[in-house]
Amino acid sequence: MPRDLPANAAGWRAAAREFADRWVVPAAAGIDQADRIPDALIAELRDARFLGLGLPREWDGVGGDARSISAVLEELSRGSAAVGVLVAVHLSVCAAPILDWGTSAQREKYLRPLARGEGIGAFGLTEPGAGSDTASLATRYGRAGDGFRLRGTKMFTSNGASAGAILVFATRDPALGHAGISAFIVPTGTPGFSVAQRLDKLGLRGSETTELVLEDVHVPSDALLGPEGAGLKVALSALAGGRIGIASCALGVAQAAFDEMLRAVRADDAPWRRTLVARAFADLSAARALVERAAERKDAGAPFVTEASVAKLVASRAAVAIASAGVDVAGPTGVRRGDPAERLLRDARVFPIVEGTTEIQELILGRHLVEPARFPNS
Ligand SMILES: Cc1cc2nc3c(=O)[nH]c(=O)nc-3n(C[C@H](O)[C@H](O)[C@H](O)COP(=O)(O)OP(=O)(O)OC[C@H]3O[C@@H](n4cnc5c(N)ncnc54)[C@H](O)[C@@H]3O)c2cc1C
Repeated sequence: MPRDLPANAAGWRAAAREFADRWVVPAAAGIDQADRIPDALIAELRDARFLGLGLPREWDGVGGDARSISAVLEELSRGSAAVGVLVAVHLSVCAAPILDWGTSAQREKYLRPLARGEGIGAFGLTEPGAGSDTASLATRYGRAGDGFRLRGTKMFTSNGASAGAILVFATRDPALGHAGISAFIVPTGTPGFSVAQRLDKLGLRGSETTELVLEDVHVPSDALLGPEGAGLKVALSALAGGRIGIASCALGVAQAAFDEMLRAVRADDAPWRRTLVARAFADLSAARALVERAAERKDAGAPFVTEASVAKLVASRAAVAIASAGVDVAGPTGVRRGDPAERLLRDARVFPIVEGTTEIQELILGRHLVEPARFPNS
């Protein structure tokens, strides 16, 4: 356990950079190939206290602001996108909403172990029949004794196979639309909870993307996070912060692809190759500025939903564009299985989809720009 924790975002970036170069970069190809992050690497993440970042010391976290989280996620993802996304999901869409919406008793019971990294967090919103359209959630809950009973299937849940606790969104009655949705903290050891499958993916391999089944899972009344019926608000507030996290991960992949490309061009220079490097640098710089701006606004307590959406949109596009140009620069070897350019392109391609697709970010932005009066805190 490191004795001196960094005091600011620059310090956390330096610590994460050193960590990534030492532990993550050398493991990245193996993580992709085996589709698994080694337990020893997760233990190192825990020891470095990255799993408690952004959470108050009062709850066994290590403090740190949105800029610190963003810097750490970028550096980890520069090494391996799967490692960055594991931490992003744990912090931004599981631990953070429990901090923001939980009572002291819930923080004591559920947040403390997450902040210590004793359990990994996950976020279960998407279902086989409900992705962008959250109103069509089919996972049902009802009151049962002194608690609740949940029944349904969650799809594409990251960290789902080894999570300690999952934030599960369920509806009391689908006819109620958004007003029927509530959020629950479900410990994965609860009877009736099971992992139906781990999905084999194009990219982000090593990140556990799972289908989860809840078959009459009984949870106590303190599993309800936020007021009953406020589940969508919990989800959307988590996703706004989460998008800065995912944008930071995309930025890390973009940076890794840029670094690879620059190395290749320096070794074998040509005017057309310089043009690709220049374009990639412009995309990378724009994405970085937007990610930093979103994190800065969050830290300042200013509305940041719009900035988070722009950052996620641009950073995930930049990652795909730069990784694709990286394959062009690498030439035929760039499409060979196992080549870093090939892996980075596969990893990059996932970012426009997770935590709200590009089209959904455009929808959010369109709404906020055209009807600002309806969305005053965006
Ligand atoms: C690797 C990975 C990890 C993930 N991790 C998680 C997780 O941890 N937790 C979780 O809950 N979910 C997770 N997801 C799910 C992800 O958030 C959804 O895939 C995403 O929200 C889209 O939902 P969908 O797949 O059902 O697609 P759909 O919503 O069916 O969308 C299909 C296509 O239609 C477009 N579209 C949909 N609605 C509109 C519209 N109104 N206007 C214009 N275009 C539209 C979309 O942009 C998309 O291109 C993950 C997904 C992936 C791939």
